[in-house]
Amino acid sequence: MVGKMKLLKIATYLSAFLLMTNFVIAEENPVSADNDTMKLTFLGTGAPRPSTERYGPSILVEVGDHRILVDAGPGMRERLFEAGGFEMISGVDHVLVTHLHFDHTVSIPSVWLSGWLFGRRVPLKIQGPVGIKDMMENIKKAYQWDIDYRVMVGVPLAGTEFEIDEVSDGVIFDEDGLKISAFDVEHMPINMENGKLLGLRGQTIGFRMDYKGHSVVFSGDTRSTAASKLNVEGKGVDLLIHEVQVPSPGASKEANLANVSLSVHSTPMQTAMVFETAKPRMAVYSHIIPPGITENDLMVSTRPYYKGPLTVAHDFMEITLKGDQIIVGERVKQSDGKFEDSNVLEK
Ligand SMILES: [Zn+2]
Ligand SMILES: [Zn+2]
Repeated sequence: MVGKMKLLKIATYLSAFLLMTNFVIAEENPVSADNDTMKLTFLGTGAPRPSTERYGPSILVEVGDHRILVDAGPGMRERLFEAGGFEMISGVDHVLVTHLHFDHTVSIPSVWLSGWLFGRRVPLKIQGPVGIKDMMENIKKAYQWDIDYRVMVGVPLAGTEFEIDEVSDGVIFDEDGLKISAFDVEHMPINMENGKLLGLRGQTIGFRMDYKGHSVVFSGDTRSTAASKLNVEGKGVDLLIHEVQVPSPGASKEANLANVSLSVHSTPMQTAMVFETAKPRMAVYSHIIPPGITENDLMVSTRPYYKGPLTVAHDFMEITLKGDQIIVGERVKQSDGKFEDSNVLEK
């Protein structure tokens, strides 16, 4: 009986969701400087925990002539290749980093070096919180031998450079109608007893993108509180993409370790409160902990507190903003093409 009720509830939510969006599988929605289309591809929707279903957090944003990665988690390079082949690997020239956790940064060397090796001849632009400069300088030192080697055998040096920008609050990019702003989010360690910050150096940031009337907010990793800037930054945006962690049941050592991070992440109920306050046109869950939690479980634990449109992202989900439409679909995967046939160096 309970199962039936649950099913009925899910069906109701699903039909409400379908009414509010156009659900499209594999529709072509080309992005160009001449149109207002903004396309997001969820390359990875998981977190640090390994999963073959949900790779590490990384979202590709295609807008105008720009191809931007928001975070670069484990597995990102292969997903990016599946999304757009060598043209995409070498075409990404801008990475936004929310914070320095490995599940958000471990694939930066991949996009930097693979992008260069397979055709990018301009510096990779990286914008992130304080500390990203040190991280990238150390990564460059770690791979200097690789670069020296490949240049010696004939790969052009151009494209091995970075342009690193440590950012905090405010507009961090404004070109070709695309405006990107950064804002502080609450992901720094706190004392669980009194809620005070433990004083670790650094910062975690969220991003907002505005383009030709479209608006998208990325939460980064964050707690959700009444003071969360996401309540304000996400107000009425087209997409509010938010992380979520479902507490692990039981009292095993593993469950306890998994739950350690609840003080720096958001439960479905806490996230729902942010969604309810901000009222985005579409709320989206990504950076999902644990990766195996089902879409239905997330919906059911969110619904008592937030009734608006909600999408649970999965790897290779594509969301397109076009005119006043929010189109949820699947990225068409490219077949493995030969580099020799790719023509990336002609472009
Ligand atoms: Zn994370
Ligand atoms: Zn984190």
